This record gives sequence, structure tokens and C-alpha cells, in this order.
Amino acid sequence: MILIVDDKQLNLFSLKRILEVNNFEVDTASSGEEALKKILKNTYALVILDVQMPGMDGFEVAEIINGYSKTKDLSIIFLSAVNTDKRFIQKGYASGAVDYITKPVDPDILLLKVKVFYRLFEQAQELNRIHETLREEIEFRKLAEKKKDEFISIASHELKTPLTSIKAYTQLLERSAEDDNVENRKKFIQRTLAQVDKLHGLITDLLDMSKIENGKLVLNKRIFDFGQLLRNTMDIVQQTNPQAILEHEGDATVQVYGDDVRIEQVLINYLTNAIKYSPDSRKVLIRTLTEGDSLLVEVVDQGVGIPKEKQAQIFDKFYRAEETSNRFQGLGIGLYICSEIVRRHNGSFGVMSEPGRGSTFYFSIPLLLANIETMKTA
Ligand code: ADP
Repeated sequence: MILIVDDKQLNLFSLKRILEVNNFEVDTASSGEEALKKILKNTYALVILDVQMPGMDGFEVAEIINGYSKTKDLSIIFLSAVNTDKRFIQKGYASGAVDYITKPVDPDILLLKVKVFYRLFEQAQELNRIHETLREEIEFRKLAEKKKDEFISIASHELKTPLTSIKAYTQLLERSAEDDNVENRKKFIQRTLAQVDKLHGLITDLLDMSKIENGKLVLNKRIFDFGQLLRNTMDIVQQTNPQAILEHEGDATVQVYGDDVRIEQVLINYLTNAIKYSPDSRKVLIRTLTEGDSLLVEVVDQGVGIPKEKQAQIFDKFYRAEETSNRFQGLGIGLYICSEIVRRHNGSFGVMSEPGRGSTFYFSIPLLLANIETMKTA
């Protein structure tokens, strides 16, 4: 928008008309004071400023415009009825003006100058936009770099912990090799194996994450009975977490077309998280429900819960809620992998939670029927 400042209504009117006929948006002010108020409030591409006005004259207005950081680069065309004396022109330029037109105004010259300034303004705006985008990109990359560094440090720590235990149990085993306490040796071997499993799980998650990043996570889809898969998964989780009370509610005897190994991975992740983040409660409920063309699976715990503002990020890579990150070990990539697996099955996922009362993690995947329909229309 262009601002025209002149104390004479007739001049304002005729200049406004010339510019509006040429498709410029125009605003007007009939005094220096009014012009300053408008300039501070709105963004203008250019100000056409009458030099001789009662009260604050054009040069004074220009000096003030020049003094504010927000408006210092604003282009000004001075209008002067005064014979263009060199002294006046110099005064105009010194106070930040960029051009000068004498009255009576030649519409062609005015338009020519206005067009040049308008283009300059648009280019400056475009540069600002590019600058802003670049700044955001740099910020984003810095943050990603920081997250990666933090992750490397967490991952190293997480990998080192089971390794240290394995070393300790192996040393104990070595020391007990000569005595005949078979029970002791069995115990050390079992504990070593549990730590090896932990290490194996962590490395598998790291490899999965890298596969997702490189677009190399391959799914081997086939038709399988979800009920059977759920029973097997509950058995596996129960074995590694004998203290947990796992309960299933709802019908799960449905045929699903998908990668059973990967769906099992999602279930294991949801269940082990439900157990891990519920230090004071042993009960975990699995609810299954067929809704139209999809199967909905909910894992309900009565654990620590997640604050509302963190729930949206919980499936993001490396994200761990600070409230729990010191108390519970983890890499912050399990749910990210789950989300990718469910997405690749055209499913949806999410969480409902209340701090201190527990969480319900859910995912839904299309049933075989829905898949056959999509295959037909594809
Ligand atoms: P990890 O458990 O290794 O940190 P996940 O990706 O599995 O990584 O989970 C990400 C974060 O989500 C966890 O750090 C924790 O803050 C939160 N979270 C996941 N499951 C639960 C749950 N059942 N109850 C409370 N918080 C959870």
C-alpha cells in the first residue's frame, strides 16, 4: 500500500486517483502527525510526502521516519511546489528521502517512480522472506543436531549398562567355575542371557530406526489370525515380566493382512512400556474391538501418565517426557518405530492419558476385508 500525505484534499484526491487507476492500493493522510500515526501502525511500500504542510513539514516527518528502526528503510517521494532549489533537494536526501517530484505533478513521471519503488519494496520483502526461511531452517538443523548428540550420549549409556552387567556376571561365572554350586552358575547364566536380550533389543531398535530413516524398512505382509498373535505376544511379555498382570478384553479372532512380526513388535512395545511406566501398578489391560473395516487395539495402564502438552510429541523420534526420563531407562525411539509400522499398514495410532492416573495407547489397522477392497480398487 502507498501512503499519500498532503494537507490539500484536492491534491490527495487527484494523486489517489492516478495511482488507483493503475491498480495501486492507496491510503491518505492530511497532516504530518496523522501520517506518522499511520506509518507506525501499518506497513507501507512507499510514502508520497508533500514538503510544505502547516504544522510538521515533510522533511520533519521524513526525519522521524528515518529515526525509527521499523520504518528507517521506508521509501519516500517528496512533492514540492517550491522551485527545486538544490538546497531543498539536499535536505530531502539527508533526511532519508529517495526521490523528489515537483508540483504540478506529471502523472507519467510519478507512475514511473512509484513503479520502481514498488518493485524495490517487493524485492526487499522477498529477501526478508528468504532470510526468515533460512533462519528457521538453520534453527531446525541446530535443534536436530542437538537432539542427535543427546541421543548418541543416551544410546551409549543405555548400551553400556547391560554390557557392564554381562561382564560382571561372566566374571562371577569364571570365579565359580571351580566350585560345585551349579545353582549359582545357572543363576549367573540366566542373568547374563537376560542382559544379552536387553542389548539385542536396543540394537534391533537402533537398526530399525536407521532402516526407517533410509526408507529400507521392509514389511512382509501376509494373512494372519490376530487373536493367535495376541496370545503369543502376551505369553512372551508375561515371561519376561512375571510380576505383571496382563488381561485381555474383547474379541480378537479376526484375520488381518499385514506383517505379523512387525505388529507383534508394536504390541510388545506398547505392553512393555505400560509395565515400565507403571511402577506402582501391576495390571495392564488389552482391549480389542473391530470397528467397521478396522481393528482397534488399546493398551491401558494405571501408571505415571503423560501431561497433556507432551502427548502430541510422544511418538516423535528421540522424544522422552522429562518427568520420566530420569526414572526410567530408554532410548525414546520405540514409539517412533511403532508409529512408522502402523502408518505403513495404513493404520492410525495415539494416546489418551492423565498424569498420575495412567495411559491408554492405541492403534488401529485395517482388517483383511478392507485390504481386499483396496486391492480391488487399486
Ligand atoms: P523409551 O521408553 O525408550 O523412552 P518410547 O519411544 O517407547 O521410548 O517412549 C517415548 C516416551 O513416551 C517415554 O520416554 C515416556 O516418556 C513416554 N511413554 C511411553 N509409554 C508410556 C506409558 N505407558 N506411560 C507413560 N509414559 C509413556
